[in-house]
Amino acid sequence: MRIDLHTHSTASDGTDTPAQLVANAAAVGLTALAITDHDTTAGWEEAHGALPPGLRLVRGAELSCVSPDGRGGHCTVHLLAYLFDPAAEAVVREYARARAERRERLARIADLMAADGFPVDAASLMAAVPESATAGRPHLAMALMRAGVVSSVDEAFSRFLNDRGRYYLPSSRTPIEESIEMIERAGGVTVLAHAFAAHRGPTVTAEVIKELAGVGLGGVEVDHPDHDDDARKRLRRLADEMDLIVTGSSDYHGTNKVIRLGQETTAPEMLDEIGRQATGVPIVSG
Ligand code: AMP
Ligand code: FE
Ligand code: FE
Ligand code: ZN
Repeated sequence: MRIDLHTHSTASDGTDTPAQLVANAAAVGLTALAITDHDTTAGWEEAHGALPPGLRLVRGAELSCVSPDGRGGHCTVHLLAYLFDPAAEAVVREYARARAERRERLARIADLMAADGFPVDAASLMAAVPESATAGRPHLAMALMRAGVVSSVDEAFSRFLNDRGRYYLPSSRTPIEESIEMIERAGGVTVLAHAFAAHRGPTVTAEVIKELAGVGLGGVEVDHPDHDDDARKRLRRLADEMDLIVTGSSDYHGTNKVIRLGQETTAPEMLDEIGRQATGVPIVSG
C-alpha cells in the first residue's frame, strides 16, 4: 500500500488537473491519494469522477491559518482537513472568504511588481486564474516565468516572492483553533501540515501543538519533504506522547515544484484511523 495524503491540483496552485492528478497517482503506484487544494474543495468532483480502479480518494483541503507561535507572537500554519462535509455552512463561508482575499492579495503583489517595472499586470494575471481556482503566489511565479523574468517557479520565490521577499504580502488567515473546530463540526479530521518546516518561515513550538491537540487537532504531518530528520524525530515523539495520527505526504504541486508524487507516504493504519474518525464524507474507491 502506498498512500500520499497531501497534493495540489489546478483547483489551487498545482499544475495537474484533478483528473490528471488521480491518473498520475495510479501511474506511480499509489493505492490512496488525498487531494488537498488550498482553501477549496473545487477539485473533489472531477477527481472522484476520474478515479482509476484500485485507487482510493481521500477528499480534503489545506487551510491557511494563523496560530500562536509559542514565543509570544503568531505565525502562519497550514491545516490539512480530511473528509469533512463540503456543504457545511461555516466551511463554505470561510473558504469563500479566504479565496476572495487571496485574489485581492495576489493582484496587490502584482501591482507592486508592475510599479517597479516588471512585465506583469494584475488584470491579466487574475484573468488567467480561473474564478473556481484558489489564487496563490505560484500563479504569479508562473506569469514571471512566461514573461522571461525568471526561469523557474523556485527562482521567482527565492528572488521575489518568498515570505522574506521584497514583494511579500501576508494573506488573511483563519485562527487555527477556529479552523479545527469548524472542520470537526463538519465531520472532518485535521492534521497539522509541515509544522516544523523552518526554512519556510517561523514555526510553532511543540507546546503549541500540544495545546492544539487539546482543542481537537487529529494529527501531524511528520514525513514531509521540508522536514529534516530532526524535525521528523521531534514530531513523531510528540505525536506518540499526545496520541496523534502521524502522516507522511509529498505536498506534490505538479511541475511547480521538484517533488514527486508519492515521495513521502502514510502508514495504512493511520489512514484507517482518519477514515474511522471522519463522518463528513467517506473515502471513495475507483
Ligand atoms: P500562497 O498560498 O500564495 O501564500 O503561496 C504559498 C505557496 O507557494 C505554497 O503552497 C507553495 O505551493 C508555493 N511555494 C512556496 N515556496 C515555494 C518555492 N520556493 N518554490 C515553489 N513553490 C513555492
Ligand atoms: Fe501550494
Ligand atoms: Fe502547505
Ligand atoms: Zn500543500
